[in-house]
Amino acid sequence: MRGSGILSLTRQCVPGRFDNENEREYHPGILKSDADMPPDAKMPSKSASSTRLRGDALSVGYEDRVVLADVDFSLPDGSMTVLLGPNGSGKSTLLKTLARTLAPRSGKVLLDGSDIHRQPTKTVAQHLGILPQSPSAPDGLTVRELVGLGRFPYQSLMRQWSRRDEAAVDEAMAVADVTQFADRPVDALSGGQRQRCWIAMVLAQETDLLLLDEPTTFLDLKVQVDLLELLVSLAHERGRTLLVVLHDLNLAAAYADRLVMMKDGKIVHNGSPDEVFTAANLKQVFDLDAHVMREPSSARPVCVPLRRPARLSPPPAAPSSAQSSAQSSAEPLEKPSAMSTP
Ligand code: ADP
Repeated sequence: MRGSGILSLTRQCVPGRFDNENEREYHPGILKSDADMPPDAKMPSKSASSTRLRGDALSVGYEDRVVLADVDFSLPDGSMTVLLGPNGSGKSTLLKTLARTLAPRSGKVLLDGSDIHRQPTKTVAQHLGILPQSPSAPDGLTVRELVGLGRFPYQSLMRQWSRRDEAAVDEAMAVADVTQFADRPVDALSGGQRQRCWIAMVLAQETDLLLLDEPTTFLDLKVQVDLLELLVSLAHERGRTLLVVLHDLNLAAAYADRLVMMKDGKIVHNGSPDEVFTAANLKQVFDLDAHVMREPSSARPVCVPLRRPARLSPPPAAPSSAQSSAQSSAEPLEKPSAMSTP
């Protein structure tokens, strides 16, 4: 049903998704300036330091298991930071904790200097937007309706849908290049088009901080590149602050202003791609043997995995007598003597 579908959508993405009891209600989203906010939503002024969002000594876990232990992290303003790490290293857990979806067992997340977990849901939602991994929209929801959900933090009994909301939705769709799909159901679009719609929804929230969990997974390379160009332009041309979990190492190195590598629930490297994207770090964090070179036009680092020495194939099974006569004149596909030993 459409109504319950929207409810489930808001649980997973808009007001927060709670994978377990540690996860609490929150809503992604942010405003451009305090002047646009309802009075009760005003935040402490930006600190002189260039970090609006940071985590101090975060310990986070699920049930009896600790996943992040004593993690410190700060997100540089106005740039794109990419989180990298093997599966299960704690990237999503860190992202969700910073976005107030998960409550830390100890430590604090500070948004503009105040504990994010002590701030009202809508207040946080007007400053910080999150796109979780693989969000799904209810059947039949149109792109315009989906993007309109991004305006949730500004709605109340006293303040219904306004021209300002309409303008924010139109602008978000234009920036994400989905205006042409506005009246089509989200579920009738391709993966890349859908992902742009979700990004438009987060943009409609007009938040300065955007946290995105694997927004490019399962997309064609060209679509991934287009999305990353969009995200990086949000940081560099519109002053937004982005934290993005990516899987693709080379795309991360090509687009990130800052790279953070996680392993076993810890941040093990944090710096510019030049500083962090080294063969030694790729080996340490991903157990990947690779050459790291420079892409000639951008001078960004790029990795090429090293092939392992070829292994000897197992000897062919002894043919049955029938096969033996049929294949007696066939050459083996590979001659073991020609192969290198491991
Ligand atoms: P990553 O994003 O780097 O793949 P995650 O943060 O998703 O890593 O997961 C870190 C660890 O926490 C993994 O071992 C994962 O199995 C565990 N984990 C993640 N989510 C949950 C959950 N909802 N309940 C229990 N364990 C979880």
